[in-house]
Amino acid sequence: MAEYDIDLFVIGGGSGGVRAARIAASYGAKVMIAEEYRMGGTCVIRGCVPKKLFVIGSHVRQELEDAAGFGWTVPQASFDWPTLIANKDEEIARLEAAYTVNVEKSGARVVKTRAVFEDSHTLRLATGETVKADHVLIATGGAPDHGAEIPGIEHVISSNDAFHLPELPRRVVIQGGGYIALEFAGIFSGFGSDVTVIYRGDNILRGFDEDIRVQVRAEMEKRGITILTRCTVTKVARHGKEFTTHLSNGSSIASEQVMFAIGRIPNVANLGLEKAGVAINPKNGGIAVDGWSKTSVPHIYAIGDVTHRRNLTPVAIREGHAFADTVFGKRPVRVDHATIPTAVFSQPEVGTVGLTETEARAQFSHVDIYKATFRPIKATMSGRDTRVLMKLVVDGVSDRVLGCHIIGDAAAEIIQAVAIAVKMKARKADFDATLALHPTAAEELVTMRVPTARHVRQAAE
Ligand code: FAD
Ligand code: NDP
Repeated sequence: MAEYDIDLFVIGGGSGGVRAARIAASYGAKVMIAEEYRMGGTCVIRGCVPKKLFVIGSHVRQELEDAAGFGWTVPQASFDWPTLIANKDEEIARLEAAYTVNVEKSGARVVKTRAVFEDSHTLRLATGETVKADHVLIATGGAPDHGAEIPGIEHVISSNDAFHLPELPRRVVIQGGGYIALEFAGIFSGFGSDVTVIYRGDNILRGFDEDIRVQVRAEMEKRGITILTRCTVTKVARHGKEFTTHLSNGSSIASEQVMFAIGRIPNVANLGLEKAGVAINPKNGGIAVDGWSKTSVPHIYAIGDVTHRRNLTPVAIREGHAFADTVFGKRPVRVDHATIPTAVFSQPEVGTVGLTETEARAQFSHVDIYKATFRPIKATMSGRDTRVLMKLVVDGVSDRVLGCHIIGDAAAEIIQAVAIAVKMKARKADFDATLALHPTAAEELVTMRVPTARHVRQAAE
């Protein structure tokens, strides 16, 4: 190791990089981690955490509306956007500091600068300093993608900007039908903005279970969000503080903000990857890695969003931890990317794990569907027009639960627990043997006895 200054150089102080640096240092490795913006990365600074705080804040409106049915008289409530932003900023600054302290406590050295490859073992910092490392971990994450260069694209904001708007827009147009678009549609709408979602396909949340897609759209529309499908934004024109968004269907919409949430691109540009010989995966534009997160260069690894596998924080963390265990802990760990639970913090929330009905029917000859939609107990008194959806997808031969899909309050919390059972390959009979916890919405998962549909694939002639 004498020829190297350190054992490991981590590029990027986000969820994955921080975990890898801490664990590698705990194994005795000499580690340096570079962060060019703010420690904590996307999730902490401009992703999961501030987003969830916004979701919680915007949901208060619904609580206030629902209170009347329970006897409460709530005086005219008012909301102050600058207070929300200031308090959120304070919390994010606290977390950022905690991340830095925790990495340093582990023994790793934090350098607050951009780092790029000079060659496969040498990193050049923005300070001009160079560092030679035995191993390098690329954990540079991703950034919002704005798609094709349409006229007026410079007026369009991304989720990064949405966390720092000086004022709450009265009207917002959001292009995209995935996680970020739906989460911010709920956030802006909850705080009182008039929201229009523009989606290019037939229905939002492509890739999710069909019942979820249909119902989440209906629920969002009931809450006053306009969802326009089969169209895209072709031009954005500015008139003072107002924008006109022109759509491919010939119509146009006025608003104070236009946001795009049409996916994210891996941060691979200007990293010096060609100097290091690190290959890009032509299928997704991320860094190409094998099952151990190893790149085309044996001593260089890549984890998290920069590999564009499943762009979720727990996945980046697990990949970072597995890398450190494998390379520095002498304990080879491969991340199992199957059955990853996920939630969309739309309002209402979506929680899902395992196969959709469509995926299961493509892979299994016999598929049983157990589905319940019902009015949640709270709505019986609040009078809110809303329904919960619980769905289990079961292999009709082995009785194994292949997937679970939920829409409703606390869907994310429920699905985290259900994910344990699905990961353990629990059978429907195990769900049935579990006593219900009453009165809850989740008890439906253990009380659905009769399949609502049974699909048997006919053998090919
Ligand atoms: P990041 O967290 O993006 O960290 C990469 C870091 O590298 C960044 O801090 C960047 O500044 C730094 N960097 C880049 N290049 C260099 C360089 N050359 N030198 C030095 N530093 C560099 N996931 C969930 O699981 N749940 C959620 O609820 C959720 N909500 C989200 C909401 C939003 C709005 C967004 C955008 C994402 C959300 N995600 C969520 C996804 C999650 O944030 C990412 O999957 C996760 O942060 C990826 O971690 P990472 O370590 O790969 O990269
Ligand atoms: P998503 O991939 O979730 O959604 C992108 C959306 O934009 C899709 O509806 C897609 O349509 C549409 N789209 C893509 N390209 C275009 C285009 N050129 N023109 C018009 N529409 C387009 O990406 P997000 O940006 O919402 O989020 C990025 C990732 O971050 C997520 O995939 C997820 O991994 C992570 N994330 C996770 C969260 C969570 O865990 N709760 C929250 C936020 C983000 P189509 O479906 O037709 O391709």
